[in-house]
Amino acid sequence: MQFADRLKNVETSAIRELFKLLGKPGIISFAGGFPDPALFDVDGIRQATDAVLSNNPGAVLQYGATEGWNPLREGLSAHMAKKGIAARPDEIITTTGSQQALDLIGKTMINPGDKVIVEAPTFLATIQCFRLYGADLVTAPVDADGVQVDALEKLIVEHKPKLVYLIPTFGNPSGAMLSLERRKRVLELAAKYQVLVVEDDPYGELFFGATPPPTLLALSAEVPGSREWLAYCGSFSKVLSPGLRVGWMIAQPALLANAVMCKQFSDAHTSNLTQAIAAQYLALGRLDGALAQVRVTYAERAQMMADCLRKELGDAVSFSAPQGGMFFWASLTGAGGKEKDAAEFAKRAIDKLVAFVPGNPFFANHADRSTFRLSFATADLAKIQEGVARLGQAL
Ligand code: PMP
Repeated sequence: MQFADRLKNVETSAIRELFKLLGKPGIISFAGGFPDPALFDVDGIRQATDAVLSNNPGAVLQYGATEGWNPLREGLSAHMAKKGIAARPDEIITTTGSQQALDLIGKTMINPGDKVIVEAPTFLATIQCFRLYGADLVTAPVDADGVQVDALEKLIVEHKPKLVYLIPTFGNPSGAMLSLERRKRVLELAAKYQVLVVEDDPYGELFFGATPPPTLLALSAEVPGSREWLAYCGSFSKVLSPGLRVGWMIAQPALLANAVMCKQFSDAHTSNLTQAIAAQYLALGRLDGALAQVRVTYAERAQMMADCLRKELGDAVSFSAPQGGMFFWASLTGAGGKEKDAAEFAKRAIDKLVAFVPGNPFFANHADRSTFRLSFATADLAKIQEGVARLGQAL
C-alpha cells in the first residue's frame, strides 16, 4: 500500500518498545507520563456526571459546536482569570486534550520545510506531530531556568522560524521552570520578531511550594504587541483526568478560526459529555481541593526521589530537583567509570525490574545520550525507595 509521504518524517516511538516491557510482573515504573489514578476525584466526577445527565441529557448526548461547549468556555474563562489570564469565552476553544491543540497548530501553521524552534529536550509527541506536517525542527538549549533566551534570540534571527514551542512551567521532560525574567524576554522576542510562541501548560498547576511565575499569556498584558503572537494550550489531563480528553487553546481570532475550521474536519467537536462534566466539575468548586491533594502527594514523592537518588546513585547521576510537575530529568555523569549511555542503563534497569525513559527521543536533534527521565507521579513512597535502590544496583 502506498502511504502518504508525510509518514516518512516520523517513526514509531523508540520508547514504545520499552513500554511493552512494563507489563513484566513486579516491575516498578518511573517511565510513564500518567498521573496517579488514585488521585482522581472520582466522587466529584461522578457528581458532575450525574448532574449533567439529569439536567441536560438531550444536549450533552447531541452533536455540538466545534468551538466548544459554552458553559465550559465560560468556566475556563473564570478558571484562567484565577491565573491572571484575561480571556473571554469566545477567545477560548476547547480541544480533545491539549494534544489536539498542538496538532491544530501544526495543521494551521506549518508548511513542509518550515523551521520550528523547540526546546532541547521537549515533549516527544510535539516533535512527532510537528514533523508530520514537515517541520524542520531547530533546538534551543534549556537549563534549570528554562529555555536560554539569548540563544533563542540568535536562533530566531538565524532561522526565521514559523513558531517557537515552549513548555515554560515544569517542562516534560526537563522539569524546568522558565524564570520570570526570561518569560518577559520571550514575550519581547515574540513581539519584536513577530513570531508565534506556543505556550504548552499542562503542568502549571502542579507546583510544590511557591506559585510559579505568571504564564506567558498572563504576562503578555505587560509587553505591548506580544499577545497576538501567543497561543496558550491548557489541559485537564494532569489535574482532573486525562481520560476525559478535555483541553483548550487561547489565541488570537484568526488562528482560532483556522484551528476551528481544521477541527471540524477532524473530530467535529470534543465530546459534549466530557466537556459538560468538566464544566460542571468546575462549577462544583472541587478543583482547588483536588489539586491541593495532588500537589502535596507529588511534592512528597519528588522529595523522596531526590533523597533516594542522592543516596543510591550519588555522583554517578546529576539532576536538579523540580519544583513541580511530574518528572526528574537526570543525566549519567560517568563518575567512577560507570555507565554514560542511558539506553544501556535502561536495559539493565529492566533486568532489575525498574523502568524509566532514556532521554534521546526527547531531543529533536543532537540527542544527549546520557540523559533520562524519571516520573515520580504514580509510584508511592515505598516503591520510589525500592525502585531507586534497584536503579543503584543496575548502575
Ligand atoms: N503537552 C505536554 C507537555 C504533555 O506532557 C502532554 C501529555 N503528556 C500533553 C501536551 C498532552 O496532554 P493531553 O492531550 O492529555 O491534554
